Formats: sequence, structure tokens, C-alpha cells
Amino acid sequence: MNRICEGIKCSRQTIPRPTKSKYYLISHLCITNNRMADGGVDGHRNEPGTSRIEQSPIKTTVHMSKEECAALATNLFLPIGDHQVPVIFHSEYDVKFFGIEKYHVFDASKWGKVFQRLKEIQLLSDHSVVEPREAKKRDLRIVHTAAYLNSLQCSCEVAKIVEMPIVAMIPCCLLDRYLLKRMRFHVGGTVAACRLALIKNWAINIGGGFHHASSSRGGGFCIYADISLAVKMLFLLNLVNKVIILDVDAHQGNGHERDFLDDPRVFIVDVYNPDIYPHDVEAKNAISRGVEMRSRTGDIAYLSMLETSMDTVFGEFSADLIVYNAGTDSLMGDPLGRLDLTPHGIVARDELVFRLAQEHSIPIAMVTSGGYQQDNWKVIADSIKNLHEKKLIYLHP
Ligand SMILES: [Zn+2]
Repeated sequence: MNRICEGIKCSRQTIPRPTKSKYYLISHLCITNNRMADGGVDGHRNEPGTSRIEQSPIKTTVHMSKEECAALATNLFLPIGDHQVPVIFHSEYDVKFFGIEKYHVFDASKWGKVFQRLKEIQLLSDHSVVEPREAKKRDLRIVHTAAYLNSLQCSCEVAKIVEMPIVAMIPCCLLDRYLLKRMRFHVGGTVAACRLALIKNWAINIGGGFHHASSSRGGGFCIYADISLAVKMLFLLNLVNKVIILDVDAHQGNGHERDFLDDPRVFIVDVYNPDIYPHDVEAKNAISRGVEMRSRTGDIAYLSMLETSMDTVFGEFSADLIVYNAGTDSLMGDPLGRLDLTPHGIVARDELVFRLAQEHSIPIAMVTSGGYQQDNWKVIADSIKNLHEKKLIYLHP
């Protein structure tokens, strides 16, 4: 019989008694001393051939890093009910900022449109999706430096990251409420998706995928490093030993690459166009399998190279989770991605990846990342619908 200790001291800080959802995470840390007594508690020896077990709970101090404490205390891991599917969405995802968002190359309401479409075709409902929580500072500090998070209080810094000079004129308190806070919901969604994938074998965050942000800097419209945070959190809690990050957004995923330089637990497969942003030579050192797709590659060559590459990846690295950064800026007509995949090619790409994950029995968590056309939401919704029709995922309203 185990006994839960009242609290765990770590780095001169005490974590409150765990909630039910965290019980399994810390139960192994709780101390129970089952002492075999060869004499009775009152001084009388037991009869020959019998023994008594005396339980003596002992208070102890467990030293953990601040990151471990934060991971243990997070509320971003969410339960999932029988009526729900592991699709994560929050109405806070869409950026609405007095109309300014319409001048950005990104469709800032694509996430809501994807969800709306999947509701219209009765594959999801408000009640069947999982609603994420906002990542708090203590969560973000698992991956980000304090200096970087402080820098986000300067509107100029945020303006550089989102590449909109006008943002520098907006008071930082408004920026935090109408932009940064929404991005923190996306981060919570990616963390929740990665955790739920381990339970349900798959999960989809309709948002997230900010793969240019790293611990100490943002860039390319990416403010928070949601993928890095989710993976680091799972490592800290010993929920996974090895992870594949499969990044098929058209741009090099230099953010998570910088965060996992020299980390043998992470195998990064980056399928990207080397002719476009960010040309991050240092980050390339973290790529375990780079698949460079030149501009105008098209469906047939793209899908063939992706499948061949992934076959060899699964042969040399056994992972507990695939984080699938499924950007749609490889779609034909994208002003930034330039890879010229048709909508059918994007749908086939996602189907291929989910099928490979299923065949190798590896849980997969998908995030939607980049895509710079006004109708990206259609191909994302069509792809999720196709995954359902091919029985690679299971949705219901
Ligand atoms: Zn991209």
C-alpha cells in the first residue's frame, strides 16, 4: 500500500499535494517504508513461520530542477472524456486585432475556419474537441530564457518577430492581450496534443507549429517555441525517451533545431525548401535527416522522397512519439513556400505520414504551422477529413 506524501520539496520550493490527474506522475517519488519486523511491535516475537509488516511513512526531500518542478506542476495536460476526440482547439486561437491582422501575409483566422468547416461536415462539435489552457510563464520558462520572455514586453521586439512594423506602435499591454495571449493558447494546445497522443495514439492541434522560435529568440512570425516546450516537458516527466520531430513545413525548422542541438533523444527530419528563409546554417547541425526539396518540386517527386526518407528513419531510430509539423505553405501558389504541391498532394502527404506512424505503432501529434494563402484552411480541413475517412483517426461530433 502506498502512501502519498503531502508535498515534494524541490530547490527550496514545495509543490502542493498533487491533483488526481498528476497522481501517476509523482507516485513513484512518494516514500513508503515497508519494514519487515521480525519482532512484534509490542516487543513480543512473532510465532515461528509468521511475520508482520510495519508501515512507517518517512518524509523526504526530493531535489529537482526548476524545469522539472514546472513540468510536474503544469496544468497544460488535459484529461479526455469518452465523448471527446484528441483534437485540440480554442476560440482564442484566431488573432483579431482591430483589423490590423488583415494586413499580415498570414490568415490569422485560419484555425477557426478549419474548426468551423469540420463542424459543418459533422466531424467535430464544440463538445467533442479538447479545449487547451493558456501556457503560463512557469511553463514557458521550461524552454525560454527569462531574458527572451522579458524582451516580449517590448512592442518593437514583437514587431520584428511578426514582421509588421506597425505593431511597434501598439502598447505592449494590448499586444499581450490580443496577440501573445492567443499564441500561448496555441502553445497549450501543442503540449496537450503531445500528451494526448501518448494516450490515444494520435492527436491534432488545429493550431501551433511555431518552428522558428527557440529558447532565446523568435522569428518568422513565431513567438513561442511550442514544439520544443512540449517535447522537453515529456522528457522531464519521463513520459518519453526518444522523439522524432518530422517537420514538413516548407521552411527549415530552425527553432526546434537550435533547441535540440546535440540531443541524441531527438531525431529531426526536416523536409524543406533550402532556397527560402531562414538559411540557418548552425541549426542545420541538429537535423538528423534533411530532405531538401527545391522550388517547384511538385507532388510526385515530393511524396516519393518523403516516403523513401521515412522508411530509412524508422529503420534506424525507434521513437516513442512523432511530432508532426504539418505546414501547408508547400501548397501551390504559396508566396513563401514555393514547393507547388497540389491540395491532393498535401492530403496525400498527411495520409502517408499517419499511415507510416500507424504501421510502426508510434503515436503521432500533428500541429498545423505555416501556410500563407487565404484558403489554407480548406486543405487542412480536407486533410483531417481524409484521415478520418481512411480510418487513420476517428472523429465524431
Ligand atoms: Zn513555413
